[in-house]
Formats: sequence, C-alpha cells, structure tokens
Amino acid sequence: MIEQRHDLPSAAPGLQAHWLSLHYGASVSGQPKAMVQCALHADEIPGLLVGVHLRAHLLRLERDGCIRGEIVLVPAANVLGGAQALLGSQIGRFDLGTGINYNRGYRHLTPELLKVLPGRLGGDATKNRAVIRQACRELLEAWVPTSAADTLKRALQCLAVDADTVLDLHCDGQALMHLYAPTPWADAGVQLGRCLDARVVLLATESGDEPFDESVSRHWWELSHALGAEHPIDLGCFSTTVELRGEADVSHELAERDALGLLAFLQARGHLAPGSVERVEPTVACDALPLEGVDPLTAPCGGVVVFGCALGQSVQAGQRVAEIIDPLTGVSTPVNSRVDGVFFAHSKTRWALRGERIGKVAGAKAFRTGKLLSL
Ligand SMILES: [Zn+2]
Repeated sequence: MIEQRHDLPSAAPGLQAHWLSLHYGASVSGQPKAMVQCALHADEIPGLLVGVHLRAHLLRLERDGCIRGEIVLVPAANVLGGAQALLGSQIGRFDLGTGINYNRGYRHLTPELLKVLPGRLGGDATKNRAVIRQACRELLEAWVPTSAADTLKRALQCLAVDADTVLDLHCDGQALMHLYAPTPWADAGVQLGRCLDARVVLLATESGDEPFDESVSRHWWELSHALGAEHPIDLGCFSTTVELRGEADVSHELAERDALGLLAFLQARGHLAPGSVERVEPTVACDALPLEGVDPLTAPCGGVVVFGCALGQSVQAGQRVAEIIDPLTGVSTPVNSRVDGVFFAHSKTRWALRGERIGKVAGAKAFRTGKLLSL
C-alpha cells in the first residue's frame, strides 16, 4: 500500500490541512482502477467506519496478490467539513464560508471534451478510452481553484476520472440502504445493490448541480451519443453514490457487512481475483427506479413530525405517510405521498419548518424534472 498525502492550501495563516489516499495493488496501464471514497459529506459517518474495515481487508487482499490493477481508498474525503461546527453541531455537508455543498459543483467535462477531442479519436474503443481519460486529466489540471474547497474537489475528481469503478460512500438522515446510479449502468447498479442489500437504486442521467459521482461518469455516455457514430466509445466508468442507511447507523457489524458487500461487487467488476471474497447474498428485493419518480415529501407547515409509516413500507398515492402537528393549536396536517412507491428515507429530526423535506418515497413513474437532488 502506498499512502499519498495531499496538502490543501492554507485558508488562513497558521492553518494547514491535508487528506490521504491509500493505493492498494499497482497502477498499471491496461489494468483496472477502482476508487472508494468515504464521507465527502463529512457529517455522514457510516462511510468512515466502512473505510476502516475496508483498509484491513485491502491490506490482506494486496498481500495475497488478489488485487487486479489498483484500488484507491480515500478514507476521509472531506477534512475541511470534518473541522466545521456551528453552535455545537457538526456541519459537514456545506462549506460554511460559501454555503456550497461539498458534493456539488464538480466539472462537467463534456462541453470542453467536445472541443478538444476531434482529431484525437480513432476506430479503436480501447485507445479512445485512454485518449478521453488523458483529455479529462488535462482539462482538470487546467482548472485553477482559489478556495481550499475547490482545491479538494479538483483533486478528488482528478483521482477518480481515470477509474473504471467509483464508489462514493454517503448516508441519509434515517434510511434504508439505497444507491444513486447512472441510468446507462442500471444493471451494475442493481448488482451493487444486491451486494449491499439495498432496497432501491435510483437512476438518472443528469441529477443537476454536478455531483461528484456524475462528474466522472456522465461524459462517457454523452460523448458516445455525440461522437459514437464516427468513433467507438465505451462507457468508461461506473460511478455511484452509496447511501449507507442513516447517520446513526454506525456499528462494526454493519461496517463489516458493508465492506464485504463493496468488495464482492469489486470482485464481480474484475478488480479482485475470483474467489478473493465471499459472495454476499441479498435478503431484500432491490428495485431500480427513476430518480425522477422520487417524491420528496415536503412539510406544508411547521411543527412536530410524526411518521405514520415505517421505512421499507409500500405506500399508495394519497396515503398519509406523516403528520405535522402545530403544538400551539394541536392541529394535525397530513403529509401524503403523491406516488405509489416505497418509503425509503426520512429526516432524523422530528421538528419541521414549512417547506422542509422530511421524507422520500420512490415510485416507478418519472414525474419530476430539473434539479433532482436535495440541497
Ligand atoms: Zn451525502
């Protein structure tokens, strides 16, 4: 294992931050590369413990010669967010200096790639893949960030942009295991979902606001669509956001199970030799559903939140999933699902302000457009 230290620019005199990437196996041209990234939202702790369990397994797998190519583990992706707190609460989702989400604002590479690729592509898909990856690296190197947060984003995107598989580990407030995956990679998303016992895989080709996972995969199908008639272009990267249940779901038992599930998927994708890790059998059905079909349940007024449905429950359109109770008047206002689907996530607190998103129901029919992710 090779440990690389990445220094971040000092935000103020006397302050210095750095993050680490751990490289298992060897980076060899033509060999696969995978990257696993833990807690880009620094207050989503389950992924950090999964990373701790993964590093022990990866060391063993490396020692036993089971790693094909390179597997990169970023054990704590966001040391900047890890150091932020406000009035006693950790704030790891947003840069407190700008209010910008650490998982938004990555570079959408397609427009620039379409300018620089003509003349560099040929008739061989494998060679085209290498050319595109090199062009991506050149474009990201030309990005000159000013803030520490953008420096971190550029470095993480650079590290992932030439990988075949990218697993970005997050969590929700309180939730079942679920994934966000690219629509063109629906089968791989379900395969990973089965390894992790995920209840739903939410598919989209463009979620909006440039999250990290799409920044390393989206250009492949967009280039294939734009240039595929003249040049063969494969989908070069499967990337996904893994939502490791809820914020409080932190235990060695869960982390070990999740680490083994991720490794089973990496083995199925060819990053580990066959037989390196045991197959993990799913215990629940995993449905692939459109992200445009998720109903973000919104509080119509402020008050006490009482959920009337359990996570994992199937609900009907019009069914009351929660109620908001005004403690001054005692009046209860229902929050109904707009779709038939699975109630798979909800907020961790039981107090809501008007307009706040308090839960999510995954339906099979796409009905939303525009920006599909929460803030
Ligand atoms: Zn997150």
